[in-house]
Amino acid sequence: MGRVFVAGSINMDVVATADRHPKVGETVAGNAVNYFPGGKGANQAVASAKLGAPTTLIGRLGRDAFGQQLRTFLAAQAVDLAHVKDTAEAHTGMAIITVADADNTIVVVPGANALVSSEDVTAVALAKGDVAVSQFEIPQATIVAFFRRARAAGATTILNPAPAIPFGKDLLDLVDILILNETELGLLTHMELRDSDDPARFVAAASALQGGSRIICITLGKRGVLALIDGQASVIAGRAVKAVDTTGAGDCFVGALASQLANGTAIRRALEYANAAASICVQRMGAAPSMPTAAEVAALLS
Ligand code: ADP
Repeated sequence: MGRVFVAGSINMDVVATADRHPKVGETVAGNAVNYFPGGKGANQAVASAKLGAPTTLIGRLGRDAFGQQLRTFLAAQAVDLAHVKDTAEAHTGMAIITVADADNTIVVVPGANALVSSEDVTAVALAKGDVAVSQFEIPQATIVAFFRRARAAGATTILNPAPAIPFGKDLLDLVDILILNETELGLLTHMELRDSDDPARFVAAASALQGGSRIICITLGKRGVLALIDGQASVIAGRAVKAVDTTGAGDCFVGALASQLANGTAIRRALEYANAAASICVQRMGAAPSMPTAAEVAALLS
């Protein structure tokens, strides 16, 4: 069985709820504040580890209380933290979220995540059969170094280009599997896409990101996922469930797919598995805490 290595962000999400959002310059009284472990890297690592894959997270935390809390949380989810460094130069990454009127505002301050370096990722011993995963909440130059290292070792590389930030061919050329949602696909290919669009429009947009034997997975929310494998498009229909909170669904999908590829599952079966895992995630509140266990996904697929 291979290992999953996730190089990515670790954040504390600080969520304040109020009856209404303040106007610029105004102060309003809030009702509650809650703290949720987050960051795409941490979420994807938790999804993979909870599904039973040996999973190592590569990242940075500040030397502060949030850093300690996140370390404790991630260790309890069986994520290997040997390559998560504490850094004195920055605070732990944070997302400051206000929720009012069923709408939210979010300010993300990367802090220590911005310091994840090429040296951090090349210190890791990857091997053939391993899976290397990353997203755009750490510097792109670090991801390039990580994927070069992974490719040299014979590992599979998965890029989830979220949030959507333009990226060059040097990085794209190192990607075996690209996983993105329709908004990210639209932003990266300068096309206006909606998740209700005809699959042919997604296939046309994705052609700009194709090359070699690269697999492209476009996640379409409740419609499921459109996969382009060897130039052939196929849709895996979303499972009919009652979604209560879709936060972290994309991260669950990425982590679940990585966990299955690391244990040698073929791509189409791994995609079905990830689609099922993400359908469980959307039925629960939160991101990292809503990731399913292997037993839950097995029960759904049996
Ligand atoms: P993101 O969170 O990145 O926008 P999506 O919303 O596309 O990602 O969701 C990722 C995956 O989660 C989908 O491909 C699907 O497998 C699953 N999913 C999301 N929303 C639902 C839903 N309402 N019902 C069933 N599955 C869902």
